[in-house]
Amino acid sequence: MTSPVIPFVDLRAAHAEVAEEVRAGFDRVLADTSFVQGPDVAAFEEEFAAFCGVPHCVGVGNGTDAIELALRASGLPAGAGAVLPANTFVATAEAVVRAGLRPVLADCDDEHLLLDPVSAAAASGPGTAAILPVHLYGQQAPMAAVHDLAARHGLAVVEDAAQSQGSAQDGRPPVGLAATSFYPGKNLGAYGEAGAVLTSGPQAARAVRLLTSHGSEVKYRHETLGFNSRLDTLQAVVLRAKLRRLARWNELRRAAAARYASLLSGVEGVRPPRETPGNTHVWHLYVVRVPERDRVLAGLQAAGVQAQIHYPVPVHLQPAFAFLGHGPGDFPVAERAAGEILSLPMHPHLTPAQQERVAETLDKVLRQI
Ligand SMILES: *Cc1c(COP(=O)(O)O)cnc(C)c1O
Repeated sequence: MTSPVIPFVDLRAAHAEVAEEVRAGFDRVLADTSFVQGPDVAAFEEEFAAFCGVPHCVGVGNGTDAIELALRASGLPAGAGAVLPANTFVATAEAVVRAGLRPVLADCDDEHLLLDPVSAAAASGPGTAAILPVHLYGQQAPMAAVHDLAARHGLAVVEDAAQSQGSAQDGRPPVGLAATSFYPGKNLGAYGEAGAVLTSGPQAARAVRLLTSHGSEVKYRHETLGFNSRLDTLQAVVLRAKLRRLARWNELRRAAAARYASLLSGVEGVRPPRETPGNTHVWHLYVVRVPERDRVLAGLQAAGVQAQIHYPVPVHLQPAFAFLGHGPGDFPVAERAAGEILSLPMHPHLTPAQQERVAETLDKVLRQI
């Protein structure tokens, strides 16, 4: 008898919860044909800003654009350096280049795999103008240290909050500029591409909004060169329905993470992830570390457990970033982690029985290695 597959995420279960609201919302948009910049967009922006406790939210086309537009709205000198961790999704570095800046990579800490302030400080200097802490896996980078460093070197702070919707950190300075993504698999996921910039600055909000819409606030008057990167009205309908459930869904992720922690405490060879003191982690990803990772991953997949790797190759070893001139050994913590990390199934609808099977399978596979 083969056991049913344990999916990595379950977008179908999430949709079932919001299906009626989404359908009613779609019908409303179709009836009044408000496909671009319809009332649901402004309503979502307001609701999401309130959820995040940040005064302004500007919806954009996707998370990568959100990072680029936040950087562009910061008015940084062309070609200046922007510090970011080597262990992030490639979009963080890609957006830096697209914004006309130069990625300056730093290593992560070995315990939480978040931007290491010591490495970031060593990377900062006269040529750097920005820093992009990445709230990787769903918990925030050490923001007090990031802001100290930014103040010392005059750096603009742009947070990559694509994986951390609903996370919190005790005593952190308020959000200046943050970018997020509503890619379908994110904690708050659309049914296509979508993203947003969050900011406490009304001027930054206005600058980003101008850029999203051809540099224009008044129809056919273009103050600056911009983009076409707006939040789609149909996506805003989906996001509004899901936002109403996000706090509960994040609580379910936290409960699932606690359950994994206790199930895995008895599994030899697994290094479970940790929440930093002061952080409220929203567990976008549950990333353990194991020896012989590729063989473990193959064993899990053969047994129907859909694990993944986030991310197998750090930015500095990607062919697209060869121009930075880095090589193996430049960011040793990120590189070692890349060979050990394994993302286990994690989503709000994961059941205790599924988690037990994940832990049992992992135990069995590790014993065979
Ligand atoms: C998803 C993600 C992005 C990019 O978002 P898109 O909406 O896919 O463009 C950027 N940074 C991180 C850390 C992400 O996880």
